Amino acid sequence: MQGLSDSFKIRVHEYVWSIRALSEDGSKKRNLIEPRLDIAKHLEILQDHGFCNFVVLGNNELKSAAEASFEKNKILLSERTYIAACNDDPEARFIIAHEIGHLLLHRDKESSSIGYMMEEEANYFAVELLAPTELLAIDMKKYRTKSQDFARIFGIEPYIAEMQRKAVEKEVEKHGVAFFEKSLQKYIENSKNR
Ligand SMILES: [Zn+2]
Repeated sequence: MQGLSDSFKIRVHEYVWSIRALSEDGSKKRNLIEPRLDIAKHLEILQDHGFCNFVVLGNNELKSAAEASFEKNKILLSERTYIAACNDDPEARFIIAHEIGHLLLHRDKESSSIGYMMEEEANYFAVELLAPTELLAIDMKKYRTKSQDFARIFGIEPYIAEMQRKAVEKEVEKHGVAFFEKSLQKYIENSKNR
């Protein structure tokens, strides 16, 4: 994900933290630094807040694991994907996060126009939603957490945990960990003031 601009990344981080701040009952009690995001539950929350809709289709009705319909602002999920995500399957969790990324980032485009760059953007969004840079950066500084532990803690596949760990290491080298501690503080404050 080398081709993504810093301004795009900042936009994604802001999205991610405003999404993570959404709770079921609209209260501000959600613990924002809790690492594991319940993605199936969060789909319902996003729907309740009017971000995007989703529908679960029988495995015969939808051939792919999931699809985003920008025109309808809707995520189509196969039953298989949805159930797997409810059962904490890291791959299914990632697929759903990726489709949420498409809807939030690309809703002004046409579904048929999805190309390489849009896939990269949705992947970046999905990784950040499930395993935000800010949390990894702080965790790595405090505990020197290993990739396999990140995979378990955040509910992501080991290869994604490894990739994100390396990406965050680079970001920390560039900006310093204090930058991410400050950003996280800012996002937490913003969520309280909303
Ligand atoms: Zn995609």
